[in-house]
Amino acid sequence: MEEVINIPKILLHIHLDGSVDINLLYEWLKEDGYDLSFDEAKKKFQVDKDCKSLNQYLEKFDLPCMLLNSKERLKKASRELFLKLDREGVLYAEVRFAPLKHINDNMDEEVVVEAVVEGMREAFSKTKIRGGIILCCMRDFSFDDNIKTVDLAFKYLNKGVVGIDLAGAEAIYKTEDFRDVFMYASKLNIPFTIHAGEADGISSINSAISFGAKRIGHGIRSIDSDEFMKKLIDDNILLEICVSSNYQTGAVKEYHPIEDFIKKGIKVSINTDNDTVSNININSEYKYILDNTNITIEDIKRSNYNAIDFIFADDNEKNKLKKIIGL
Ligand SMILES: [Zn+2]
Repeated sequence: MEEVINIPKILLHIHLDGSVDINLLYEWLKEDGYDLSFDEAKKKFQVDKDCKSLNQYLEKFDLPCMLLNSKERLKKASRELFLKLDREGVLYAEVRFAPLKHINDNMDEEVVVEAVVEGMREAFSKTKIRGGIILCCMRDFSFDDNIKTVDLAFKYLNKGVVGIDLAGAEAIYKTEDFRDVFMYASKLNIPFTIHAGEADGISSINSAISFGAKRIGHGIRSIDSDEFMKKLIDDNILLEICVSSNYQTGAVKEYHPIEDFIKKGIKVSINTDNDTVSNININSEYKYILDNTNITIEDIKRSNYNAIDFIFADDNEKNKLKKIIGL
């Protein structure tokens, strides 16, 4: 484990609500009047070891989303997550969440975003980790709500927020239907990544790329076409790969294509998606990949180095990271 902890890491794909410290979640659960033992609570926050169902996986977000219902909690969840990532050897992390899922009578979307940014900044002041917040548009949200999320990202861009994403049920709500949302984001020069090719096929990834996405969340269905994989290389697209998550949601059955992607020269970054839901961390993911594929530590180091060009930050930040990670 020592050797993977020491690899300086770039983490591009991790959701706040799926990665809140489990002890914090339990504390809040009790504060809010739930009478559950820790083990019972754990079952509500974490998938079973052999989970292979998207529905089971998605159920685990219900409670954390509900518990992240105040400024203090959002701030703390964000701060503790960045501090944890720092301990795991992450140099730069982009943490994503959907702000509109947390608004209530006491908190509008601006308070929500400011709380998460503040938590991140508190972590920055104590550690060397750097990064930013990505705001998620949701596939099941109305057009107006997604536009609201884009406007919110624009308001806080370079003030803690670094970009936007599209998350949610890809098989039901087609990527193509969100073209106008991302055309609007492009007009505002907001960087974006899009979950695609996880529960839907190549056409979904293709739509995301045609909107201008240079980063694709998962993108694993690219494996279905050699021609398409060549396009990923030609267009210099990076896939944000999350191995355990892909098994647990059933997006990947027996065999995960990460090794093919790397061997073919497609740029990939290795991520966790949801640390708490999957009961993993970035080091256990690296370890799993090293133990179960022919991917080497050198491949992993290169994936981190390659990821730097795709972070939503300026050249100054990229150059600093390149100097530290070097090859
Ligand atoms: Zn994700």
